Amino acid sequence: MENKAYRGHVLALPYPSQGHINPLLQFSKRLVSKGLKATLATTLFIHNTMQPQSSSSLQFDTISDGYDEGGFAQAESIHAYLNRMETIGSKTLADLIIKNKNTANPIDCIIYDPFLPWALEVAKKFGIFGAAFFTQTCAVNFIYYHVHHGLLKLPITSTPISIPGLPVLELEDMPSFISVPGSYPAYFEMVLNQFSSSDNADAILVNTFYELEPEAVDSMSKVCQLLPIGPTIPSFYLDKCLENDNDYGPNLFVSDSFVCNNWLNTKPEGSVIYLSFGSMASLSNKQMEELAFALKGSKFHFLWVVMASEEAKLPEKFVEEIGNKGLVVQWCSQLEVLSNKAIGCFLTHCGWNSTLEALSLGVPMVGLPQWTDQTTTAKYVQDVWKVGVRAKVCENGIVEREEIEFCIKEVMEGEKGKDFQKNAMKWRELAIKAISEGGSSDKNIDEFVSKFINS
Ligand code: UDP
Repeated sequence: MENKAYRGHVLALPYPSQGHINPLLQFSKRLVSKGLKATLATTLFIHNTMQPQSSSSLQFDTISDGYDEGGFAQAESIHAYLNRMETIGSKTLADLIIKNKNTANPIDCIIYDPFLPWALEVAKKFGIFGAAFFTQTCAVNFIYYHVHHGLLKLPITSTPISIPGLPVLELEDMPSFISVPGSYPAYFEMVLNQFSSSDNADAILVNTFYELEPEAVDSMSKVCQLLPIGPTIPSFYLDKCLENDNDYGPNLFVSDSFVCNNWLNTKPEGSVIYLSFGSMASLSNKQMEELAFALKGSKFHFLWVVMASEEAKLPEKFVEEIGNKGLVVQWCSQLEVLSNKAIGCFLTHCGWNSTLEALSLGVPMVGLPQWTDQTTTAKYVQDVWKVGVRAKVCENGIVEREEIEFCIKEVMEGEKGKDFQKNAMKWRELAIKAISEGGSSDKNIDEFVSKFINS
């Protein structure tokens, strides 16, 4: 029996992947600190895989995507997965709302990932406040907004591309679904469809902070009211205001913090390159080989996350041969690693969470974007935030070892490297300010809460 008085009950519904769960999970914790009850609903398969801790300030519940035994991997295609998730997800989300209806804390607000636009329809059916939570940069959202509303015609036939509030963009800076027409049509439809529902949403939240993208936020705000509420990073790494909040919490993968910390703690300050390509990494064998040789050839230490599914792509005997120069792990606590003094730069795929984490912790980057929004984020890393470089891709689609070594050197040493570091620290300070009490994101979170509580 619950007897705690909450200001309201929000249900957060992320798209079922690590990079989408983390920000919504973290945002939900912020809402708990504002006196709300928050429940994070994931698919049954994800729930069983990540085993949420009961000690969390959040509640956890489930919906079904129709693939309870194997999740996405069980689906015959991306299209089939998204379709079935819409059908079964809508029904099981409705069941979840009904289950909570006659309790002390019925659901007052659904914060849904706009990759799942049907969630808003379910919320509206029950007369519940529906807020879209965008997990990519405001710039990327605005590009998709332009395409969705026919303001940017595809295929793009002339460059550079001008979008108000964004820097001038070349084709290679656009999200891959746009620059490579016909690639992943189901995902392309999904990113554009974010706006089919969000035009009717009661609030639009974006995981960025105003100071990071002021022009993009101002420009997009003219056509769609949005609230930047990020960065959604555990409080321990920013304002330190939430108790025991030093980790996202539930993880789809197991990390070995002990091994990583012990190894990093033996390395001098700023001497280690950290490499990770996120939770959906799938590099070509050739790209893995180029990375491996670049790391072997460089004079720096490195910590490389190579997921189990990628391990076979490493050159033979690589791990034995690198000895103490490098450490290869299948997963790590990325925040813990990025905040370790030994880290000098982050070689990243420029996934939005990873980039936001690096900006929030003041770590310069080498960007090796692979697909989706990562290319646009890499453009910002180099040319807007000036916290690193984007590696040049050869005609064969590969970033070669010489280029990787060159980029690493640029960021790890020299005058440029110092500037990147200085800029990275500036973004860290601004991130802390934005999320701290009275900061731009904190105020927006308050505005959002009062919006749905008084609706
Ligand atoms: N991450 C982690 N350990 C790792 C690699 C990644 O904890 O070894 C986390 C990282 O901190 C981030 C998320 O996984 O929060 C990856 O999200 P991102 O948007 O960067 O990339 P995606 O996985 O969506 O491609």
